[in-house]
Amino acid sequence: MSPTLFERIIAREIPSTVVYEDDDYIAIKDIAPKAPVHLLVIPKKVSTRIDEISDAAEMGRLWLTAVKVAQSQLADYRLVVNVGAGGGQEVFHTHIHVLGGWDTGSAVGFGG
Ligand code: 5GP
Repeated sequence: MSPTLFERIIAREIPSTVVYEDDDYIAIKDIAPKAPVHLLVIPKKVSTRIDEISDAAEMGRLWLTAVKVAQSQLADYRLVVNVGAGGGQEVFHTHIHVLGGWDTGSAVGFGG
């Protein structure tokens, strides 16, 4: 199988701005931000979409890492996961979006 886009970013074959990294996760700035701060928290272990992760500890570590990354940059934030093409997913390597940095009260509502 050819590597995913995010595997190529993890391998530094494709440049990105890395804001966090440990043995199991990387967080990068989104190339086309949909908020003043828009990060992607990506497990290095590849799964196509988040609902492929069936291990509770693995799922928990992913969300805890997303919260840690978010809290390192933002007081308030939104965590979003697009699941499948019908859910808006475009990169089929599991990731959590961290969005924030809006002026107080100006965060868009769902569907906005
Ligand atoms: P999805 O739609 O799969 O939930 O989100 C994929 C995200 O990856 C999008 O927000 C898109 O802007 C971002 N993205 C796509 N290609 C690249 C890239 O080459 N580098 C970075 N940093 N982000 C990317």
